[in-house]
Amino acid sequence: MQKNKSRSATPIIAILVLTGLLAIHSDKSIAQDSFDLYLIDVEGGGATLFVAPSGETLLIDTGNGGANAQRDMGRILDAMQDADVTEIDYLVTTHWHGDHYGAMEELASRVPVHQFIDHGPTVESSAAANEFIDTTYPEIYGRAERRIVVPGDKIELADIEFTVLAAAKRVIDRAVPGGGVANPYCADFTPQSEDNGENAQSVGVLVQFGDFRILHLGDLTWNTEFQLMCPRNPIGTIDLFVVSHHGQPSSNSAVLVHAIEPRVAIMNNGTRKGGQPAAMQILHSAPGLEDLWQLHFSQLSGQQYTVPGLFIANTVDEVQSTMPIEPRQGATRGPGVEPAPRHNGEAHWFKVSSQADGSFTVTNSRNGFSKAYTGR
Ligand SMILES: [Zn+2]
Repeated sequence: MQKNKSRSATPIIAILVLTGLLAIHSDKSIAQDSFDLYLIDVEGGGATLFVAPSGETLLIDTGNGGANAQRDMGRILDAMQDADVTEIDYLVTTHWHGDHYGAMEELASRVPVHQFIDHGPTVESSAAANEFIDTTYPEIYGRAERRIVVPGDKIELADIEFTVLAAAKRVIDRAVPGGGVANPYCADFTPQSEDNGENAQSVGVLVQFGDFRILHLGDLTWNTEFQLMCPRNPIGTIDLFVVSHHGQPSSNSAVLVHAIEPRVAIMNNGTRKGGQPAAMQILHSAPGLEDLWQLHFSQLSGQQYTVPGLFIANTVDEVQSTMPIEPRQGATRGPGVEPAPRHNGEAHWFKVSSQADGSFTVTNSRNGFSKAYTGR
């Protein structure tokens, strides 16, 4: 889709009317040279919107479903409105977990989605996921196109290339330009128990815009990271790492996080999902890391492991006056566990605006705090 198609004013007005929002629309449909990304808060799920200088859009994941589908769809629509886009050219579903495909049906009923991309059938026996994939999904993509990707495939936007590095538990078997050196972290790798579920099936992509490089691997887990990254690092170094699996320690091994030397990492965690000490120690010690940004404060980090509030986009509805120093221990989900604090009020995103020379800016929409990073 070209810019004037994706960014025409009429559908924007339609969306405003549909959502019942009264807002003054600023016309930003003049050509822009930045490649923008929105890391949208979907409470420990995934939803990342990419907006190319051409106006083309790619969304990775649609947040949570069920009772939270309207909420998360609304948050995605808010980001689209901010970006002045009205259509999704490519919707990549990383894997078949409810926090990643949850609001797809709702979103696709509100905005045109032109191509649906995924890794193929689920490997889990979840009745809900199977029902969705067998019945609902074909109804949705039947109005457009579906594409099942394998490692090495590319999704091409004007000036921007998405390279599939992982899908359906397979990984790319050759280095991309800039990659291919021996990975020194492989020698110290300790496997975890094998993940035969959907997380390991995640579609993972490298995104390249000039010299600016983003890595987004969905919920890809520990042992598959090793498969991807060892013995040679096929990726090279990364400017912006979207932290895998919400910042959980069943992903984010040093063979990945340390080898890619991310300059900036953004974690799509929840209040009690991701940010555990083991993962935070690996992230904080990544060579060359300038900043870690978190979509939520995590009780699993406590003050001991978290970043300063400037770098945190969301708190909870009833904000606590003090933050425990020690991370919360023990079970955080399941029967008998006190529910996590709620966050259904205003949600904030991180907006990343990048240039082809590799420079970029991250802005926290909660407090307006913005930080610029120069090219390498
Ligand atoms: Zn997830």
